[in-house]
Amino acid sequence: MSELYRQFHFRYCNNGHLIYSGSGPVTQNNCNKCGQPLLSNCGNCNAQIPSTFRSMVYLTNSQPIHFPRRPDFCVSCGQAYPWASLEELHNDRKDFWDIIHPSVEKAARKRLENGHYSDAVEAAMKALIVTVKTIYREKANEELDGVALMRKAFSPQRPTIILENQDSQIGRDIQQGYMDLFAGAIAGIRNPKAHDVIEIDEKRAIHHLFLASLLFYKLDERPK
Ligand SMILES: [Zn+2]
Ligand SMILES: [Zn+2]
Repeated sequence: MSELYRQFHFRYCNNGHLIYSGSGPVTQNNCNKCGQPLLSNCGNCNAQIPSTFRSMVYLTNSQPIHFPRRPDFCVSCGQAYPWASLEELHNDRKDFWDIIHPSVEKAARKRLENGHYSDAVEAAMKALIVTVKTIYREKANEELDGVALMRKAFSPQRPTIILENQDSQIGRDIQQGYMDLFAGAIAGIRNPKAHDVIEIDEKRAIHHLFLASLLFYKLDERPK
């Protein structure tokens, strides 16, 4: 019987794949899974990334049974390793679309992900207008559009679409506030390209999508 424990050398690639060798240090420069460079040192402070581990091995092929736990941060300087920041970015994005209203996601996600930021906002706002328009048309039997539609549909004096119980002052204040938000969203940001010559960036587009999302959720939650 051969030894039960053996030492292995390993390196991670930028994407966090572990490449190991049972016969001395890993000398290749690129990952065989994804082609990314293999790292030996922290890109920030140059501290060595751990590169050896011991594991019990399978008797049949001498391959390790256990692998080391991949660290996400450099122990010397605290900087996230490349694979950790990638994961973080990915998780952030997942969370983002989880909390955005499905109608906004449907209208805007592909556009945003392809870098068409103004188009993404415009599509979300269009979807919002169409939704309000449809509800209003059914209730009031009248065709309105844009800011005029929002001011009439949500008017606290005679709301066609009631967002809050109108028996209290608070309810009427909320109705007024949301009417202003709906009208403001249309007047101010419906189509960023039509209003400004400048293309908006991703961050600003996301802010606008959050607003559209809030208004969609408020519509969904209205008393029926
Ligand atoms: Zn790789
Ligand atoms: Zn470091």
